[in-house]
Amino acid sequence: MHKIDLGLVEMTMDVMKYAIDRISATDRKIGKPLKAEELKALVGETITDKGIGGENAFNLWKQHLANANVPVDHPRNLAFVPASPTKAAIMFDLVTSASSIHGAYWMEGAGGIFCENEAMKWIVSLTGLPEGAFGVFTSGGTAANLSALVTAREHWREKPSNRGMKGIMIASSGAHSSVKAMAKVIDVDVLLVESEEALEGASLQETISKLSDVERERLFAVVATGGTTNAGIIDDLEGIAKVCEAEDLWFHVDAAYGGGALVADSVRHLFNGIERADSITIDPHKWMFSPYDCGAVLYKNPELAKNAHSQQGSYLDIFKDEGAHGFNPAEYQIQLTRRVRGLPLWFSLAMHGIDRYKDAVERGLELAKIAGEMIEAHPDLELVRPPSLSCVLYRRKGWQPEDYTEWTYENHRKGFALVTPTKYKQGETYETVSRFCFINPDTTEKDIELILNSMH
Ligand SMILES: *Cc1c(COP(=O)(O)O)cnc(C)c1O
Repeated sequence: MHKIDLGLVEMTMDVMKYAIDRISATDRKIGKPLKAEELKALVGETITDKGIGGENAFNLWKQHLANANVPVDHPRNLAFVPASPTKAAIMFDLVTSASSIHGAYWMEGAGGIFCENEAMKWIVSLTGLPEGAFGVFTSGGTAANLSALVTAREHWREKPSNRGMKGIMIASSGAHSSVKAMAKVIDVDVLLVESEEALEGASLQETISKLSDVERERLFAVVATGGTTNAGIIDDLEGIAKVCEAEDLWFHVDAAYGGGALVADSVRHLFNGIERADSITIDPHKWMFSPYDCGAVLYKNPELAKNAHSQQGSYLDIFKDEGAHGFNPAEYQIQLTRRVRGLPLWFSLAMHGIDRYKDAVERGLELAKIAGEMIEAHPDLELVRPPSLSCVLYRRKGWQPEDYTEWTYENHRKGFALVTPTKYKQGETYETVSRFCFINPDTTEKDIELILNSMH
């Protein structure tokens, strides 16, 4: 029999209590970073031959280190794309950790993968992809985009005449930085179509028609964005789908941020055409209220992903054995060993039901509208463009770029809010403006008002 280590029991209780307090706290501060040297001076040497003890290490975390993080789920954190994991999902993230599930193969992770797949079926249903389409959870949008693009590239290169050719893909200038970064990883060139607003089918067609014969041969994929990270702009997915079908190009939709809005009836029509995609990226850790990290990649034809990603190795053959039959997530994306990242989402969805998700996303959309109205009614403020999805770009009349930066730092210093500036291109000029991105349904109208009124 194992001896019960009372110290460990106490430690477990302390950590659980801390986690529960953290989840339930309503008056959290927005923490701020310190320099690494400053943190080191506060905590001293923590990795030693004999260990400093759990209580000691935990106290250092609580006193100094925890405060150097910005809680992304703070209702006045409207920077970048924030997050707002449900309590249910966070609690089940703890369960996921405690369960030590190897999520690569059904043989080891059947229970967890089953749950992931139930959640995935729901996500696939939101997109309207045809029968047979399916997906897997990844570490995030970057990994999902990479997995999809590798699949596209491998599929294109199956054709003997394309072997050894360096591919080209087309994306709009509003595409996320990870699309350009992952193009480097797979060594393909990206052709960016300049567009301040949505990328339209017609301008895609025009771009293609201007390619040289060799370039046209190298072109294998188009990446459309289902909600740009900067402004929430959704490309003309229907028009782009048509062009991709006519030109025999892989159609990838990066909806890492916007994909959560597929559940919202009020904006679902903006995504029409997404059901014609070959692959789609959606980040549950953005607008599906999952904790970090959780992305998802969906394929119209998962067999193509399997061809691209299935790893071979004598030590892996056992997983393909009869007795282990089931869905192997490792075969559809870049990672082998993986956490069952979709498990917290499954629990939260099962507990709350789809309607709660609908309401929570609709609230984010509504907050963006409300913020837009407040800005229009404010004498010193102006909308840069109408709110799109949950992104609001606006200017403080008369402010220079450094005013926005100072205001951001000032709010952050006070632990009051985190709202960061961005740039928006109009014509040939980039203007520094302020930006809200609403995810958290607990953000209140009062929060928005306080933030806007702090822009004296
Ligand atoms: C956030 C985002 C990504 C990157 O996703 P990560 O989860 O940060 O890797 C990719 N594309 C879009 C449109 C995004 O908003």
